[in-house]
Amino acid sequence: MLNTLEALNIVLAHAELLEPARMPLDKAAGLVLAEDVTARGNVPPFANSAMDGFAVLASDIQQASEATPVRLHILEDVPAGSVATQPVRPGTAIRIMTGAPLPDGADTVVHVEVTRVEGSDVVILLALKSGFNVRRAGEDMTDGTVVLHAGSTLRPGEIGVCAAAGHDAVSVYPRARVAILTTGSELVDAADELTPGHIRDANAHSLRAQIAAIGAVPVVFARVPDTRDAVRSSLEQALAGSDVVLTNGGISVGDYDFVKDVLEEMGAQLVFWRVKQKPGKPMAFWTLGHKRIVGLPGNPVSCMVCVEEYVRPLIRRMMGFSLLHRPERSAVFDERYSKGSDAGRVHFVRVLLEQRDGTLHARPTGPQGSGILTSMARAEAIAIIPEEATVIDAGATVQVQLTDLPEDH
Ligand code: AMP
Ligand code: MG
Repeated sequence: MLNTLEALNIVLAHAELLEPARMPLDKAAGLVLAEDVTARGNVPPFANSAMDGFAVLASDIQQASEATPVRLHILEDVPAGSVATQPVRPGTAIRIMTGAPLPDGADTVVHVEVTRVEGSDVVILLALKSGFNVRRAGEDMTDGTVVLHAGSTLRPGEIGVCAAAGHDAVSVYPRARVAILTTGSELVDAADELTPGHIRDANAHSLRAQIAAIGAVPVVFARVPDTRDAVRSSLEQALAGSDVVLTNGGISVGDYDFVKDVLEEMGAQLVFWRVKQKPGKPMAFWTLGHKRIVGLPGNPVSCMVCVEEYVRPLIRRMMGFSLLHRPERSAVFDERYSKGSDAGRVHFVRVLLEQRDGTLHARPTGPQGSGILTSMARAEAIAIIPEEATVIDAGATVQVQLTDLPEDH
């Protein structure tokens, strides 16, 4: 049986970058650029005013002060979006608004707060250095230069840069399409009345939310009863329209666990089955051509933890992200934790965090059974109890994955 690190490395080794696609800028936020972005022209495209005020020659106002004001004749007004019809000459000024092009001749803008208008003249009360309040053409981006590199994540700032640089579409790694297929004849919808022997399907919903949180597209299929034929026809549909298929349940050793058999019949290559971990031991991984198939255990916590530990990094790599792992910190474990009879595997313990006296502390959320879904809701992090440890004493240091923070934090 593989250990957790081996399993992760194998999953990641099978991650293929998705085919880049051109996407409208307004659909590309959160995705990774597949190509460099180059400025089409200077940004700003022309020298312009950073303030509302008067475009002047700095040489005219070198002696200006409250005591010795300088009087200039106002030639015209230039609002943003217009261009002056004449140059500024010695002894004159043009009234200018923020963002309007600096008129020829002028080299400086005097902000309105240090001026006084008297009839058709403006009185300047402060000397300013040449270039003051002027934004140079190309001071943000220079024509033809790379402004964003391939591999950058398009956060809102990058989206703005693309638009300013003249691109309304960019080449990005697309969102992975992830089929979600929950199996189990005991499952009913969340709103259904429960009849004896049935439980609500939690995993279809938690999985959808986890996949959407990665930025991928969840494609949730109708629940699959535990029959060979139903499992087969759902798997065929799921594989047809997705990059990754997540099956859920039916991969243990029960008599009605058909997922493994059916995938084998369909020609999928089993890469591994079972990992030395708790929860999530029955996890499986297959490839079928370029498709990746992850068999998630049905227990609700196992299922979510396997997505967090393996599926999320897999999909991030397929979508071009270079940072694949949540931030990790050392924390003092506040309670004794014993693996009991489950030694020899990594335990993923859902924990609460507390910063005390400058040190990070972690303690379990409560019962850690693989069916205790509230442990996932309460968790602020996942503590990694290493394979070789049998007991963690209170006060020992453990590594915690900060699962509420993004990988690039
Ligand atoms: P399995 O992996 O199919 O043997 O399921 C293991 C346990 O998880 C069983 O107790 C199932 O009833 C439960 N389970 C499986 N699928 C789901 C689901 N979608 N939602 C909630 N519990 C589930
Ligand atoms: Mg089942």
